[in-house]
Amino acid sequence: MTTKVIKTISTKTTVTMYQSCDSCLARAKFKATFSFGELDFCLHHFKEHESALIITAEAISPIGGHDED
Ligand SMILES: [Zn+2]
Repeated sequence: MTTKVIKTISTKTTVTMYQSCDSCLARAKFKATFSFGELDFCLHHFKEHESALIITAEAISPIGGHDED
């Protein structure tokens, strides 16, 4: 079993719901689902890769608010 190292966030941010971008440390705003797994993107990186993601991802869903998995 692998245990992910949990980053210490020294702000008032609620840690439980925090998902960071897979390309940087910003908070993820979108989740892209692929046949091989999932990637989380902040708004910046989502916009940067948006045209490719729309073609390659099976699904893209926003992160935030009160999504139920
Ligand atoms: Zn990013």
